[in-house]
Amino acid sequence: MLMDKERNQIVEYGKKLITSGLTTGTGGNISIYNPDLDLMAISPSGIDYFQTKPEDVVVTKLTGEIVDSDRKPSSELDMHRIYYMRRPEIRSVVHTHSPFSTTLATLGWDLPASNYYIAIGGGNTIRCAEYASFGTWKLAENSFKAMENRFACFLANHGLLTCSYDLKNAFSIAEETERMAEIYWRCKAVGNPVILDDEEVDFMLEKFKTYGQKK
Ligand code: 13P
Ligand code: ZN
Repeated sequence: MLMDKERNQIVEYGKKLITSGLTTGTGGNISIYNPDLDLMAISPSGIDYFQTKPEDVVVTKLTGEIVDSDRKPSSELDMHRIYYMRRPEIRSVVHTHSPFSTTLATLGWDLPASNYYIAIGGGNTIRCAEYASFGTWKLAENSFKAMENRFACFLANHGLLTCSYDLKNAFSIAEETERMAEIYWRCKAVGNPVILDDEEVDFMLEKFKTYGQKK
């Protein structure tokens, strides 16, 4: 099957979106770009993550033209392909309806540097993109703007979007952003969270480059 590995990974991580509490129902979507084939694999629209089979995952060109699968691709196809078209380092995009990120996104707030982990998003804030209807090119554009020099952004009145060099990392950025959004929300409920200064965030951006075991 064309893009067999990527399609299986999308099925696996779709289930993880639900079991980790990052999304509910058929909310959210996942894609992976293969630069050798210049094709992307994207979750199908509106199919339960536990019912989704690898052949349901849709393979498309970056123009959006369907190459393989009888299914309809995610309604957010544009919000995925815009990253592969314009940011060559991006190989995977994850979209979720995570409750705490969506809470901040509904307030129209950016997440400030309330935790050193903010650096996994690529800078000192996770910005909230301007509202646009789901499944539109306008939403793709608005997210792309908020994602400048970043790997995560909120979608106003909607949810969370992350991108990275692979699916494992894009998923992990979503999990960590949701955790930070929850803690920030809890802090705002009782007081004023302390925000790290830019110098410290710059230091964290450097430290994350060598975090963990040697690759
Ligand atoms: P799809 O099921 O079409 O991917 O849509 C879910 C969603 O989250 C829309 O923003
Ligand atoms: Zn959505």
